[in-house]
Amino acid sequence: MRALTLVADRKLELVDVPSPPAPGPGQVQIRVKAVALNHIDVWGFRGMAFAKRKLPLIVGAEAAGEIAAVGENVTGFKSSDPVVMYGALTCGSCKPCCEGRDNLCENVQGIMGFHVDGFAREFLNLSARLVIPVPPGVNLRDAACAPIAFSTVEHMLFDNAMLQPGETILVHAGGSGIGTVAIKMAKAIGCTVITTVGDDVKAEQAKALGADHVINYRTERFEHLVRKITTKKGVDVVFEHVGAETFNGSLLCLKRGGRLVTCGATSGPSTTLNLMQLFQQQYKIFGSFGASMRNIRNGLAKMASGLLPVIDTEVALDDVERGLARLESRRVFGKVIVRF
Ligand SMILES: [Zn+2]
Repeated sequence: MRALTLVADRKLELVDVPSPPAPGPGQVQIRVKAVALNHIDVWGFRGMAFAKRKLPLIVGAEAAGEIAAVGENVTGFKSSDPVVMYGALTCGSCKPCCEGRDNLCENVQGIMGFHVDGFAREFLNLSARLVIPVPPGVNLRDAACAPIAFSTVEHMLFDNAMLQPGETILVHAGGSGIGTVAIKMAKAIGCTVITTVGDDVKAEQAKALGADHVINYRTERFEHLVRKITTKKGVDVVFEHVGAETFNGSLLCLKRGGRLVTCGATSGPSTTLNLMQLFQQQYKIFGSFGASMRNIRNGLAKMASGLLPVIDTEVALDDVERGLARLESRRVFGKVIVRF
């Protein structure tokens, strides 16, 4: 079978690897149909120093497929069922896992496609515990955006920032995979959404998604405009993932007691923080990484009720570098999908 494999930094190859054996007890075998790309793939592709891993490595952190075979002692799945997979090898038995806080697993064996072999292969065996059914009416291309994009946003907005209907939120990089999802999820509960984009074409696209105010961060200082739009009050929540370039401006956008939630640092990982400002303004800052199984199920349920991901580009398996290049270029609006 074919597997998309990182053989050296920045060197991806489509290689032939042995097909997996029949699934063991407690496992299912999955035929992968669609892999969604994320910035973690770009980091992996670039070879970040912090990643402890061995090459060659099969890539792909977020995917959907269908059940190809079912091992012993597995209930709830049958052949051809559409499914998505959790993106990390959690233990399922530590305290956080038992409490449904999967992304705080104390014995995690790694992130799929980053530390351990990922989903960009035709077949894989996986513990049935890490497999989630796709509800009727959701296609596999869209479902492939549930395990990271939808669930990460779900976890950030509703578990961490506790976003409430009627609040005002600033969503950074509204054209990104998670930015597009955040705009849609916040609008769906009746929030006022301010978003930033890098060009006028994206500004129109973000408005079409429902954003109430769109700021082109290349031509205008977003922190000034946010204060103007909110008549100097500031926003309740900032959805951060840009990092060094925007973090301090984001804090200036918050109202007193406001919440900032971040899951990324694409523009750089380090900044300085004014601690006087932090405690006097009573800001709440949340770091967020990954999601729980419940967040993935909620994301899929939202898709089934019509809240669909924005798909920028679909590429064939042998054209994945074009997809990664698009993701890195910042021209992207929505998700990039690799089809099998
Ligand atoms: Zn665990």
